[in-house]
Amino acid sequence: MAIKEQPKSPRFRIIANILLAVSGLFLLLNLFLPGLFASGPTGVPYSLFIHQVQEGEVNRVSVGQNQILYELKTENTEPAPVFATTPIFDLELPKLLEEKGVEFAATPPPKNTWFTTLLSWVIPPLIFIGIWQFFLARGGGGGPQGALSIGKSKAKVYVEGESAKITFADVAGVEEAKTELVEIVDFLKTPARFTQIGARIPKGVLLVGPPGTGKTLLAKAVAGEAGVPFFSISGSEFVELFVGVGSSRVRDLFEQAKKQAPCIVFIDELDAIGKSRSSNGFYGGNDEREQTLNQLLTEMDGFAAGDATVIVLAATNRPESLDSALLRPGRFDRQVLVDRPDLSGREAILKIHAQKVKLGDDVDLRAIATRTPGFAGADLANLVNEAALLAARNMRQSVAQEDFAEAIERVVAGLEKKSRVMNETEKKIVAYHEVGHAMVGALTTGNGRVEKISIIPRGMAALGYTLQLPTEDRFLMNEDELRGQIATLLGGRSAEEIVFNSITTGASNDLQRATDLAERMVTAYGMSKVLGPLAYQQGQQAMFLGNGGANPRRAVSEDTSKAIDSEVKEIVETAHEQALEILRQNRDLLEAIATQLLETEVIEGEKLHSLLSQVKPVAKTTADSVAS
Ligand code: ADP
Ligand code: MG
Ligand code: ZN
Repeated sequence: MAIKEQPKSPRFRIIANILLAVSGLFLLLNLFLPGLFASGPTGVPYSLFIHQVQEGEVNRVSVGQNQILYELKTENTEPAPVFATTPIFDLELPKLLEEKGVEFAATPPPKNTWFTTLLSWVIPPLIFIGIWQFFLARGGGGGPQGALSIGKSKAKVYVEGESAKITFADVAGVEEAKTELVEIVDFLKTPARFTQIGARIPKGVLLVGPPGTGKTLLAKAVAGEAGVPFFSISGSEFVELFVGVGSSRVRDLFEQAKKQAPCIVFIDELDAIGKSRSSNGFYGGNDEREQTLNQLLTEMDGFAAGDATVIVLAATNRPESLDSALLRPGRFDRQVLVDRPDLSGREAILKIHAQKVKLGDDVDLRAIATRTPGFAGADLANLVNEAALLAARNMRQSVAQEDFAEAIERVVAGLEKKSRVMNETEKKIVAYHEVGHAMVGALTTGNGRVEKISIIPRGMAALGYTLQLPTEDRFLMNEDELRGQIATLLGGRSAEEIVFNSITTGASNDLQRATDLAERMVTAYGMSKVLGPLAYQQGQQAMFLGNGGANPRRAVSEDTSKAIDSEVKEIVETAHEQALEILRQNRDLLEAIATQLLETEVIEGEKLHSLLSQVKPVAKTTADSVAS
């Protein structure tokens, strides 16, 4: 669906060449024009002019490139007659003029040559601009912006009715996101209903989710449902070219949008401009991006309630990298998760895309959905297309189930390189692993509430995931909470140990994070009784770079270094024991939840809360006896 520049067709090349030739001709003509149309002053031959100079009759001379204008001496006060002559390449002229005491200068008075000046300086550039604009209008997808307006946003505007209107019916498998966005549609349709009772209309909604899950599609659907214009620009387009351009683009984009309000501004790849400012400070920062970000914040703060309804939707697949200033109230204070679809979601998406192809009678979309865990909406759209291509290649009249089977293999092969799909055994391991995180997380503090567990891969690295939403903003954590976090991180691996009696490589990221946290407790937060309240970390960068074992420590003695290691180890091991104990004591529940997760791929909301509320806490004495 992305709009690409159309390749310029040869016809337009030809037209451009003609225009170029015409403008070149103009330039050439210009050189001769004064000679041809020396209208105002009386034209005289050069020889006469030289004669008059030699005779001392000339008062002032103005030497131009194409014309020499001169004034004769007069006795009275009336304006002297002005004559013009065409210059001849004559190096002796200045010498001669000086000798005769004639006042002379090099540029002709413009009032006499406005016509030629106009021709030589204004028209050719105009022609070039014309050509440029012509191409922009052809290839750039339209818009009133001219070539010289580099700072103008290149936002593409979709107006209702233009291109096939996209609605919520075109999006499937992301029901929660749709539910939340229906509200935005209401705001856009009847803003008065909300402002009347003093409700503040949200300004920014952040669509968060992996690539291809339909974020762009959803944003268009919101505009389509509300019947409002849709401005779209990509974050990476803001930060190209010249310094300062990004911010003026943002300004211009919002200016345009406000004129067309109510409308939607969609910023794709928000992380390209909105990356956390502190996190890259280490590398010297990026002024351009920062300016652009600031301008965006200013614009978002600028339009107040009661103003024109402009709702900014933005998409990102890395919300954690965004600057916190963007997420404050009145900015992108709403986040909508657009996740990979589950089984029934995939079936629904397949249904949408299968409408575009001729399906054979034997096609079973449910079966296809079952075989495609981890596929995002875009992958499924791609799958349907692949199957149709295969059917055509096999000279079939409609797409058969076997075409789908073959297409799945192809698409999976492509996705496997990006490590997004897994086999049955892997799925099972991931299910227990995630339930392990969730169950330990449910019993320990410092984690926030577990909102969702999923074995549908998200992002590039994770296989499954457990989503915990903090119940409140946390700036300070105490030791117990940190230990709880570490235990939760180890919950996944602990579950694998208990159930399969072996461990996989899948937990390496968890272990890394757990170790980092423990190390920080000891070296930065002074939480170790053995080492005391001393900071053993150098400066701050270690915290930003957060690359674990590589933390540059303060120069410490060998003994201290050993002590740090053993303290970190103690913290991690205690947490590991705690996690193992919780899971052992709730073994039946672990089985039950994992089995259910394998079936539905996702468990969330109330259902999850009620399952997790059954986790029994560990009796203190047992935990101690295990730890010892
Ligand atoms: P994103 O912006 O999240 O990367 P897009 O919205 O650009 O994903 O999706 C690309 C294409 O994949 C869409 O145009 C659509 O054809 C298909 N697609 C993605 N998600 C869905 C979905 N949930 N339902 C239907 N089609 C989808
Ligand atoms: Mg997109
Ligand atoms: Zn894990």
